[in-house]
Amino acid sequence: MIDKSSTSSATRTALEVDCPTCGKKVPWTQENEFRPFCSKRCQMIDLGAWASEEYRIAEAEEKDKWSETEDERPKDSH
Ligand SMILES: [Zn+2]
Repeated sequence: MIDKSSTSSATRTALEVDCPTCGKKVPWTQENEFRPFCSKRCQMIDLGAWASEEYRIAEAEEKDKWSETEDERPKDSH
């Protein structure tokens, strides 16, 4: 009897998961609508991971080209 009630209370309190995106401990509760993620941000990151990553790489390459072009400009003509 006593054992049964203690087990159920432990199950209620000790439910935690690691956020798949940032690894933060996330309480698995009904209030947490983003579970198993810690926040909406982490959920969005995981859902759009492959897409946003591709976009980010493309963007970075674009910026790299731009900064390279600026770097190539002779600055020591002063
Ligand atoms: Zn997170």
